[in-house]
Amino acid sequence: MSTPFVTLDLHFLGTPRAIAAYLIPHREGVLLVESGPGSTTEALRRGLEAHGYALEKVTDVLLTHIHLDHAGAAGFLARHGARIHVHPRGAPHMAAPERLLASARRIYGDQMDRLWGEFLPVPEAQLHVPQDEEPIRIGEHTFVPLDTPGHARHHFAYFWPEQGVLFTGDVGGVRLPGVRHMRLPMPPPEFHLEQWRASLQRLRALPARWVVPTHFGPFDDVAWHWNRLEALLDDIEALLTRVMPQEPDEPTMRRLLDQWVAGWNQRDGVDQALHQAYEAANPTWMSAAGVLRYWHKFRT
Ligand SMILES: [Zn+2]
Repeated sequence: MSTPFVTLDLHFLGTPRAIAAYLIPHREGVLLVESGPGSTTEALRRGLEAHGYALEKVTDVLLTHIHLDHAGAAGFLARHGARIHVHPRGAPHMAAPERLLASARRIYGDQMDRLWGEFLPVPEAQLHVPQDEEPIRIGEHTFVPLDTPGHARHHFAYFWPEQGVLFTGDVGGVRLPGVRHMRLPMPPPEFHLEQWRASLQRLRALPARWVVPTHFGPFDDVAWHWNRLEALLDDIEALLTRVMPQEPDEPTMRRLLDQWVAGWNQRDGVDQALHQAYEAANPTWMSAAGVLRYWHKFRT
């Protein structure tokens, strides 16, 4: 079954099928779901050109959230004329990204530029900030933004009702092509288990034929997808309930999460190459800080 959109592989850090942007033609040009990071603008340009489109043809970009791997090139696309759609909590950071970039630099240090490239601000006149469920009309298409916290509070999923396509950003989990497997991206500072469960219920209720995470690609086994996401939320909650009374520090939590991931790898038959691709898309070490922060703030 072919999809009503094109998957552009941005080859993040030379890794295939780690970060996608999705291309949808419409009667006035093309739109993208996600811009990808500032470090992959050349791959984005080549991907567009391979389908016959110059950068200037991109009229609109739907950002699921403002993490650098999803939104880093939005300012670059705005310079080429695109309108940028973003969650109300993310919009101020797209117009003035200094604080966002400072906090990213604290996490990534001197790897910042190599990983993420340049993050240009989006002029306010080119930002569109819809409310939850406020339809976005682009050409002949309509998309419905759904406020879906859990991974980040500035997160929208986008449902495309006429095609039954649901773009899930990161709140639908990280799932790469290959053997059936999924990871939970739980970064600081906004990973939140109960909010994620509520978002899952909301997404699961939609009549989606395709679930489309940014990492990576469309999946049509929708029931499996939601069941696995729920199982991972249950399993991480069980793990945290068990280990947090011992007050693990961050290195200990990294080890515990590495073991947790290794258990799922074994169960699913994930080999080392696929594991490395998952780590490129969603490093496990980042989730250690995320789960500790969540637990200390909301569960103790
Ligand atoms: Zn994210």
